[in-house]
Amino acid sequence: LKNFLSIRSFLLLLLSCIAAKLSLCFSTIPSSLLTLSLDGHLNFDEVQHVAKDFGNQYQLLPFAVLHPKTVTDIAITIKHVWQMGPHSELTVAARGHGHSLQGQAQAYRGVVVNMECLQSPIMQVHGGKFPYVDVSGGELWINILRESMKYGLAPKSWTDYLHLTVGGTLSNAGISGQAFRHGPQISNVHQLEVITGKGEVVRCSETQNEDLFHSVLGGLGQFGIITQARISLEPAPDKVKWIRLLYSDFNTFTRDQEHLISSENTFDYVEGFVIINRTGLLNNWRSSFSPQDPLQASQFESGGRTLFCLEVAKYFNLGQTDSIIEEVERLLSPLNYISSTLFLSEVSYIDFLDRVHISEVKLRSKGLWEVPHPWLNLLIPRSKVHRFAEEVFGNILTDTSNGPILIYPVKKSKWDNRTSVSIPEEDIFYLVAFLSSAVPSSTGTDGLDHILYQNKRILDFCESAHLGVKQYLPHYTRQEDWKTHFGPRWEAFVRRKSAYDPLRILAPGQRIFQKAV
Ligand code: FAD
Repeated sequence: LKNFLSIRSFLLLLLSCIAAKLSLCFSTIPSSLLTLSLDGHLNFDEVQHVAKDFGNQYQLLPFAVLHPKTVTDIAITIKHVWQMGPHSELTVAARGHGHSLQGQAQAYRGVVVNMECLQSPIMQVHGGKFPYVDVSGGELWINILRESMKYGLAPKSWTDYLHLTVGGTLSNAGISGQAFRHGPQISNVHQLEVITGKGEVVRCSETQNEDLFHSVLGGLGQFGIITQARISLEPAPDKVKWIRLLYSDFNTFTRDQEHLISSENTFDYVEGFVIINRTGLLNNWRSSFSPQDPLQASQFESGGRTLFCLEVAKYFNLGQTDSIIEEVERLLSPLNYISSTLFLSEVSYIDFLDRVHISEVKLRSKGLWEVPHPWLNLLIPRSKVHRFAEEVFGNILTDTSNGPILIYPVKKSKWDNRTSVSIPEEDIFYLVAFLSSAVPSSTGTDGLDHILYQNKRILDFCESAHLGVKQYLPHYTRQEDWKTHFGPRWEAFVRRKSAYDPLRILAPGQRIFQKAV
């Protein structure tokens, strides 16, 4: 009997705990959300997966995940939150493919909109003199590539990785090796459909609601949820000559990069990366790249030096196989790379653009994809990039790096200064991306703490040396840092927020504005 009583009281205690927990949950989930009439649905149970992102450092649990079937579902939900007024703490975050780094697509105790569920409009490619494609804001770029290629067309400007959504990259900028010619992805959009923080569905373009159009591009999700975009297309090539060249001198490397992006008749893609203490790298390339001169290349020794690799690509069609070799030789002839280090590869256009996915598959199979990614992306004015390199590659990161370090120039003239993105004040600036992966629970130089410490050293140096650097995919936790980030554009940013999302409902994970409760 004694045992029975103690088991019974234990079970009662357990039940009362569960009841208390449930009542806590239900008392905090705004019950009015349950009353919304939607074509899709709100899920209150499986919310953990949207409290995670590629960065793997932040986990903010929402109350609910909206799986919209239609644009109206998203509009109804936002309008409902708007009508709850300033005293509700509820916020809404659009989640594209969740490849943010510091919780930017999360909403603590809010509603996360799973944009990939939005299947309307059906993707539609339009040919003619100025071809374009209409896509949903939750569409992945890889799907847009595949669909437009059926018509011999493709978007002009890319990111290095295509398993990202249109809404996610347009909220930042979308930069890759084509940006020097076409500008970032935000310079290649004709029209958007946006749901503002008041739940209004608005079409906007250069000529219609133009302030909203420019606000949303590079707007970090602050002014509206992009539900549809019209993306500019061009004829897609069949193949790509993909070339890597090494330099030991930073000045020569950047001079050649700048020469290439300044000429009209040049490569179609120009990037570059830094190689720190990686003697084995040349061997790794052999699978896809062949040295032009195998004997000389095999004798090349990096000697532990920091090297700089220029990466270029030239597109061509199958009928042009001979002339493209001459063309590439002509473009390479003025460059001053280490002559034994010319490596070539030839791949299909789709394999070239989707190249990072091939690495993803390999890393996933080794359990190395879902690790913390303390990435740091910077935009550095051309006049300061040498000072930056001297300190960062010569002093802060001398022994090792924990992932690729990209470095390449882009031209400011290809960016529209009416958009929301904040960039350096010089005609040419460099994207420098430290794409680090941390080894979980390591306390060594490959651990999260060490990498975050190195990132901080880099940022502190940029600040103390007054380099005029802007963060790309910016992350700040204090509003004064956001003010500094936007500089003279801060007031316009705040004005736009008051106009399109006055209750500060949207994209709380960016931590720019707090909902006033
Ligand atoms: P999410 O992470 O889901 O969202 C990002 C932000 O946009 C959030 O604030 C979210 O609320 C908001 N948002 C999402 N969808 C919408 C929408 N429809 N309307 C309004 N706001 C929305 N970037 C480059 O520029 N160039 C690169 O080469 C590049 N390479 C990358 C490679 C990898 C492996 C990864 C992981 C990222 C890379 N990025 C690159 C960064 C990438 O562009 C951004 O992280 C982008 O935000 C990710 O898109 P997403 O769909 O995952 O967006």
